Order: sequence, then structure tokens, then C-alpha cells
Amino acid sequence: MKIEFVDLHRQYLTIKQEIDAAISDVIRNSAYIGGEAVAKFEISFSKLFDNQSVVACANGTDSLEIILQAQSVGPGDEVIIPALTWISTAEAVVSVGATPVFVDVDDEGLIDLDQVEQAITEKTKVIIPVHLYGKPVDMINLMNIANKHGLFVLEDCAQAHLAEWGKKKIGTYGHAASFSFFPGKNLGAYGDAGAMMFQDGALADQCRMIAQHGQMGKHNHIISGRNSRLDGMQAAILNVKINHLIKWTTQRQFVAQQYDQLLKPTKEIKLPSISSKGTCVYHLYAIEAQKRDELKRYLDSNGISTAIHYPLPLTSTLPFHSTKRFPNAERITANTLSLPIFAEINLDEVGYVADKINTFYI
Ligand SMILES: *Cc1c(COP(=O)(O)O)cnc(C)c1O
Repeated sequence: MKIEFVDLHRQYLTIKQEIDAAISDVIRNSAYIGGEAVAKFEISFSKLFDNQSVVACANGTDSLEIILQAQSVGPGDEVIIPALTWISTAEAVVSVGATPVFVDVDDEGLIDLDQVEQAITEKTKVIIPVHLYGKPVDMINLMNIANKHGLFVLEDCAQAHLAEWGKKKIGTYGHAASFSFFPGKNLGAYGDAGAMMFQDGALADQCRMIAQHGQMGKHNHIISGRNSRLDGMQAAILNVKINHLIKWTTQRQFVAQQYDQLLKPTKEIKLPSISSKGTCVYHLYAIEAQKRDELKRYLDSNGISTAIHYPLPLTSTLPFHSTKRFPNAERITANTLSLPIFAEINLDEVGYVADKINTFYI
């Protein structure tokens, strides 16, 4: 059996008619930049999140950076982020001239809240929790820490569309949230796309202005901004896909449940565990496995594609190298393996993957 890590084409086939019609519409109307589809997407996305203010932009990395810029985060300022995340979280901080301050993650790969508090200095401006793998960070306690110290919270929700903490969606706790619609994300465009989300409409307006060449209305440039737009084609695709997101999320959770049941618990593998106060949306199903690289090769030789998220903590990469130790991030990156998960994977396939893993450890 051949099993892709993520099979985007299989998903396309389930919505082909809708997608093809949406793309044709954009071409027929020459609505390539801005226009109805973008406005419609912002409204639909906002409806999923208690009507918070949504500003679409070009990608998830831009959205992090624009929000930091709007908060006037810059040289001399510190931003607290986890050592284990995709590099965008740290790049955004460096792009505005501020300093990323890394803290270790907990046993499950999420930013360690005790260490967040210890890392706060007079220079700290922002905390960026990352809902890694689709697992929600404990946003109630994180907001308590941030409010106590008067800090701005920017949630990195790139991997966690619709995840919840305490029955409330992540992205609605922080002062701002950043989303990515990179094709492989839980809600993915057919190219790059992203969005920013805010409780405060004025901050949303500020970010929209930055993303549109510093304009307040056409040719009224208030500041020197930048170009970070969601294009009409991507918005039209997202407008189709957003109507399936809740169903797809449930299917991902079902697949995760199957893995949980089928994988034999042994000392050699550790399955993802989720706090009972949270709802995970399983962007990834990442296990910790002894002899990880050998297991990966074995699965590969049986036609199963897996991936590693991530091979190193950011604090061990060239641009962010640190002499400090981050034991949990280092352990997780040394052992983690992401198994195939997507809404359309079928039970035979999940069973086959689980079987091969169980066999490997016999
Ligand atoms: C994907 C991702 C981003 C950035 O998204 P792009 O749209 O690829 O720029 C940021 N943070 C995390 C945690 C991500 O997984």
C-alpha cells in the first residue's frame, strides 16, 4: 500500500466542481486582487471566531510580522517564544528588529508557562504562544501571566484552526492571532495565504493599513507600509474550503482516535496526549518513537510517508543558535515522527500504518 503524508489531490477531487467554478468566476470577473471574494472570506472566517476582526494577508509569516510592527515592537524589545516551533515565529521577531527570547516547551511540545514567567524582563513586550501540532496552549493561564505583567499576546494559530481551550476557540484569547493557509494547513489555499485576527477593530485597521502600502483609502499613504495581500483566486478557493472545515476537523480527530486505539502502547512509543480542557485539531499526529530514524526508514520501505516536525529546536539552528539547553525541545526533536493524517485518509490506510509500527517494535 502507498500512503502519502498528506494527499491534497484526494481532497481536491471531493470538491472539484465547487473549486473549478470558483476559480472560473475570479477569472471571468478579473478579480485578481482584492474584491468580493477576499471580503467574503474575511467575514466567513470572522464568523467562526466570535466575530473578531479579520484582516487577510499574503501568508502566515507576514501576519505575525505585521502585528508586531503595528505594536511598535522593534530594536531593544524582547519577544518570548517557544524553542520548538516552525521558524516563522522567530523570523517575524527578527524582521522587526526585536530579540526572540526562547523558552523550553513542556512534555507535549507546548510553550512552558512557568518558564514564560521566568523569562519576563523590563524589555519584554510580547509573548507568542504557538498551538503546535493543533494542540491548544493553556490560554487561560497564559493570559493571566500576560495581564499581570501588562504584556501583549499574539497567538500563532497557523497549525490550529478551530482548536479550543476550555470550550473557547484559540485565537480569541490573545490580543491578536495569526493564521496561515499554506496548502498543507488544516484550512489551506492553493498557494500562500494568511490572516490576522483581533479583538480590537482599531488594531485591525492599523494592520490592514500596513499590509496595503500604508494607505487609508486609495493614494492616502499614512506611513511607508508594504504589500501583503490575499489574492482573489486564493480567497475564492478558501471560500469553498471554509464550508468544509468543521467536517474535515472532525474527520482528523477521528483519524487521531483510530491511531490512539490501534497503536500498541509500548515503552518505545509515546502517543500525543491532550489536556482534558483542550480540543486538539491534529494538524499533525506526532508521536515520540525510540529508534525514530530506523522506524521512518522502515515505514518508507513499506510505502508510508512520514515527516519530522521538527528535526531541531530553533535554538539548535544556525540563525538562532543558543548555548542554553532546552531539554524537552531537544528530546522531542530527537524522537518525534509525524504520521500520515488528513481528513480523507481511510481506515484501511490508518490500520496499515498502525500495523507496520506495531510490527516494527515486536
Ligand atoms: C505554517 C506556519 C507559519 C507560517 O505560515 P506561512 O503561511 O507558511 O508563512 C507560522 N507559524 C507556524 C507555527 C506555522 O506552522
